Amino acid sequence: MGNSATRRRAAAQRHEQIRAKTSGLVRQEIIHPCFIADVMLGRLAKWLRIAGFDVLYSNRFSDDELISLSNRDGRILLSRDTRLLVRKPVRDFIFLESQNVQDQIRQILGALNLTVLPSLLTRCLSCNETLVSASREMVRKSIPVFVYETQRQFKSCPKCGRIFWAGTHRSSVIRTLEKLLPENKVDWHGGQPA
Ligand SMILES: [Zn+2]
Repeated sequence: MGNSATRRRAAAQRHEQIRAKTSGLVRQEIIHPCFIADVMLGRLAKWLRIAGFDVLYSNRFSDDELISLSNRDGRILLSRDTRLLVRKPVRDFIFLESQNVQDQIRQILGALNLTVLPSLLTRCLSCNETLVSASREMVRKSIPVFVYETQRQFKSCPKCGRIFWAGTHRSSVIRTLEKLLPENKVDWHGGQPA
């Protein structure tokens, strides 16, 4: 019992420290934030990439790598790990309070006061690379016939070669993301996403 009480006290102390550290970041006006997500946050990384954010993620990053990449590139470190976040060299970070990915996105957008999302289909969901336009003929052999016949715009990832198109889930993705913006204000960089 003594042990678990001690652990609880230590965890509460870390939360306190993190709260004190957080305040600096939240007041900054960050217009084009980029992120690095810790190893537990693969789903969140994917969602943020769908919205067009630059999010570094690998399930092989060590804590030291997360911290040094965050500081080197000015990436906001996203984590639910209080032991990681209380470490001294950790500078810009958001401590995610919920395990739910939509709550996490809402918290990030709210913390940075972001009312504008970058743009759908601008980043590879697997490797975070910026997508480039690809012509229908270029991708013809790599996509299902149905897709070739129904879609006009394609993008491809210069790193892994994956091909992306608008697809049928797009409007539901947009609706979900829009609901998460503070006060439901909605805007997208680079014109209409749909
Ligand atoms: Zn890729």
